[in-house]
Amino acid sequence: MMKVEFFRHNIDEQDIARVEDVLKSLFLTTGKEVAEFERKFSAYTGMSQTVGLTSCTAALHLSLLAFGIGRGDEVITTPLSFCATANAVIHAGARPVFVDVEPETGNLDAGRIEKAVTGKTKAIIPVHLYGQMCDMKKLREIADRRGLVVIEDAAHAIEAERDGVRVGRLGDAACYSFYATKNIASGEGGAVSTDNGDAAELLRMLRLHGIDKSAIDRYTKRYRHWDMPVLGWKYNMDNIHAALLVHQLDRIDGLWKRRDRLWGIYEEELSGLKDIELLKTVPGSRHARHLFTILVAPEKRDAVLLSLQENGVGVAVNYRPIHLLIYYRREFGFREGDFPRAEEIGARTISLPLYPKLGEDEVRTVVSVVKKALSGRGGN
Ligand SMILES: *Cc1c(COP(=O)(O)O)cnc(C)c1O
Repeated sequence: MMKVEFFRHNIDEQDIARVEDVLKSLFLTTGKEVAEFERKFSAYTGMSQTVGLTSCTAALHLSLLAFGIGRGDEVITTPLSFCATANAVIHAGARPVFVDVEPETGNLDAGRIEKAVTGKTKAIIPVHLYGQMCDMKKLREIADRRGLVVIEDAAHAIEAERDGVRVGRLGDAACYSFYATKNIASGEGGAVSTDNGDAAELLRMLRLHGIDKSAIDRYTKRYRHWDMPVLGWKYNMDNIHAALLVHQLDRIDGLWKRRDRLWGIYEEELSGLKDIELLKTVPGSRHARHLFTILVAPEKRDAVLLSLQENGVGVAVNYRPIHLLIYYRREFGFREGDFPRAEEIGARTISLPLYPKLGEDEVRTVVSVVKKALSGRGGN
């Protein structure tokens, strides 16, 4: 039996050599490598500032704080995301308010946002699900009219563009993840990009306890006492992780092209089958091709999932909706039926392997295993 892993990373010899250089140097924590990564990331996204962090969860948390969102505030977001999106709102002291998604993309439905806005609403966190950007023009227009901050959860979507607008451009800040299975990965890692210089300055303090001088400043410049104007966290990216990302960023478009090609094969082979539905790539957009998902009948999903796994194909479920997780049900009283479109996708979705090292023969293997599983002939 051929084993097709769910994910394999892209770290190459050049990345490893770069980490080796850092390990042999004097300075391991936030310094020159992080600064270079931030510069290159800003250039790639077209934003003026990037702040390197330990995770996207940290990026979401600190972005909310940097824009003054906290206790008593409400933040509108999608229930169809990784729990980190809504957890960050709670970490900031605010309350997540879910709005249901578009059935054809799984993204936050901009047309439903205004009904959820109250006097306490301060921000919207759209998630560019699986790499397909939300309708940012519409979201920005609503946010401007209602005086709301927009923080993009771009964990899936570094490469994305829609309606001529790159990811992150219409948000007040955008948050990225370099977690082990993301489009570029350093094991753990994240960043915020923004064009707001004051927010970036505050983010740099908030990522390091709230102190006003980083270790590299204290070390390389003439000693000056530091102080702590605000209460921060310990979320600063270090040089080791940055070293893993710098060259991946040089290769990012080639990696995207490869995933785009594999995506095309999946789409060709799986669209039009009566037991499978695929989500839509919005015309006029560059989908970041992060996760390839199929939708099957809810009563068949878990059987198909297990059958794929038993036949050597790595799978995942992205995502069972956040509002139905135990904590959210208990703390907020959410129930089944609250967000039916997100629940439907959550009950039907299966993520298939998609990464640049995946062979075209492996994609075809996955396709045939999927077809067999759906026809009920999934045994060994
Ligand atoms: C992975 C992910 C996160 C969290 O990223 P970390 O870097 O692991 O904190 C947040 N949102 C979405 C949509 C994700 O997929």
